[in-house]
Amino acid sequence: MSKTSWAEPFKIKMVEPLFMSTREQRVKAIEEAGFNTFLLPSEYVYIDLLTDSGTSAMSDRQWAGLMLGDEAYAGSRNYYHLEDAVRKYYGYKYLIPTHQGRGAENILSQILIKPGDIVPGNMYFTTTKLHQELAGGTFVDIIVDEAHDPKSDFPFKGNVDLAKLQRVIDAHGAEKIPYVSIATTVNMAGGQPISLANLKALREMTNKHGIRIIHDMTRVAENAYMIQQLEEGQSGRSVADIVLEICSLTDGATMSAKKDALVNIGGFMATNEWDVFEEARNMVVIYEGLHTYGGLAGRDMEAMAIGIEESVQDDHIRARVGQVFYLGQKLIDMGIPIVRPVGTHGIFLDAKASLPHLPQTAFPAQALAAELYIDSGVRAMERGIVSAGRDKTTGDHCYPELELVRLTIPRRVYTQAHMDVVAESVQRVHERRDSITGLKMTYEPKYLRFFQARFERLPAA
Ligand SMILES: *Cc1c(COP(=O)(O)O)cnc(C)c1O
Repeated sequence: MSKTSWAEPFKIKMVEPLFMSTREQRVKAIEEAGFNTFLLPSEYVYIDLLTDSGTSAMSDRQWAGLMLGDEAYAGSRNYYHLEDAVRKYYGYKYLIPTHQGRGAENILSQILIKPGDIVPGNMYFTTTKLHQELAGGTFVDIIVDEAHDPKSDFPFKGNVDLAKLQRVIDAHGAEKIPYVSIATTVNMAGGQPISLANLKALREMTNKHGIRIIHDMTRVAENAYMIQQLEEGQSGRSVADIVLEICSLTDGATMSAKKDALVNIGGFMATNEWDVFEEARNMVVIYEGLHTYGGLAGRDMEAMAIGIEESVQDDHIRARVGQVFYLGQKLIDMGIPIVRPVGTHGIFLDAKASLPHLPQTAFPAQALAAELYIDSGVRAMERGIVSAGRDKTTGDHCYPELELVRLTIPRRVYTQAHMDVVAESVQRVHERRDSITGLKMTYEPKYLRFFQARFERLPAA
């Protein structure tokens, strides 16, 4: 790491005042929200760490770009600008814009996956896995074991265990595997990077078997930064250069531009294969819009094109990840159990370790997130048994190893003082952790239940 502070390479030119709620207001709000932070009105949130998705602050250039929106139905000039940016900074040949990441996942999964197929990946992501299943596929986790251990300090927890992939190939045959799904960085493991060396080894192995690699490139710049900081022989390279190499080792991608690419809405699918592109161009018309806007306004594509360029600048990414590490180090110094090492987009509190008196069926992470909100108005989210959903065949809950509360940091939005307030609140809740009771689920949606599920407090044991 560089010796100077991570201070931001920008200054603030517009502010958004926040409502400072009372504890009584927050107790009422979380009860009305069924103890699900997703159901809170944002007005009652002070520091919103629910997600880094679509919550970034755009630059003055991006805002200026909105005024250059060409809202023609077909062939908008902003589409061509976006295509140029995707080719220049990511290196993929063909672009299909979509309204956000899951729009791209839907189209790609339907094109590449046949019923009965197997899709190995470096840990699941909620929407990604669901689209794979809706297309008839089955996701198989091939991430290294360290990723499931919140205490392991392994620096590249996003790596693929090649032996696990070999076993999947041996068991099902390469022809049943349309692609290996690789996320940079791995959201559900706590924002953990994959190393370039591991990705290269994976490329070699998949080439041998004629299997594609599809890149969930939602946080590729953050992954590239970690490679620059931690991987042998990579410290002299720019983040932009590493991003290009990562993409070059894969055959296509889905992108939620609401993360890395610094826009409030947008995404795309990209591919180097003409056939896949042609098919996607047909499908995008059904689900998103014409292939030159994919559910976005011209101005949204312009902001995305500019955001992509800003997102791969070394100074930007160093401050972005630096702020996350600042909060992480503070919590570590306070003795709070968090996933180690600290990931790039947020801090993941280890609810299993903090609340050992609660069984996983009492939703410890969900309960911890609710307590944090009541304490300070900081909004976090559950990443544990609620997010993992139910087993497709048995109908029982999936029981993930990791039972986490995610404090996700929006890009370019909050200050260091905000991070201090968050850390102090986490500490206060941690100090009275023995008094925290579990929850009972009272409403469960069929898909992606964490978004809309409702809970009630269980009586104290
Ligand atoms: C957010 C996200 C997605 C889905 O993107 P949306 O824009 O929310 O639809 C897919 N994969 C990962 C890793 C993500 O973080």
